Amino acid sequence: MAAIGEFFNSLLLKELFKGLALTGRYAFARKITIRYPEEKTPASPRFRGLHALRRYPNGEERCIACKLCEAVCPALAITIDSEKRADNTRRTTRYDIDLAKCIFCGFCEESCPVDSIVETHIHEYHGEKRGDLLYTKEMLLAIGDRYESEIAAAREQDAAYR
Ligand code: SF4
Ligand code: SF4
Repeated sequence: MAAIGEFFNSLLLKELFKGLALTGRYAFARKITIRYPEEKTPASPRFRGLHALRRYPNGEERCIACKLCEAVCPALAITIDSEKRADNTRRTTRYDIDLAKCIFCGFCEESCPVDSIVETHIHEYHGEKRGDLLYTKEMLLAIGDRYESEIAAAREQDAAYR
């Protein structure tokens, strides 16, 4: 009996008309595609993107080379070397993040006692070779310098949520 029903359905092109009806419905529906990169969809405030190292307003690096971020990183993506300065403070001599290893978990940011390493909302970056995704201290500080106002505003907003 079911086979006879199927035969008549195929004779009447029922599936074809159902498909055309669906196409017709979507042809006139509101478009949800956008013209990236000119147009962008809103990002979640909790989005974790490219890392940055921050400075204090006087230009001093925030990082005190405590290495908590290095210890907590589950992907072993952070490498830090440090030395004591003449004024007895400790600062990094090397701070690398291998973004090819990073899983963007945010643990480094959460562990930092001085708000130094942060993850920005930047997601438009790329590397053509594996080595291009090894971000050095200078690169991370440059990102921090460039986006400091945006980072500070995001941190304030974050604090307000807590
Ligand atoms: S976001 Fe997570 S995986 Fe990436 S560097 Fe920080 S702690 Fe490591
Ligand atoms: S970025 Fe923060 S957690 Fe990492 S070594 Fe510097 S001060 Fe410590």
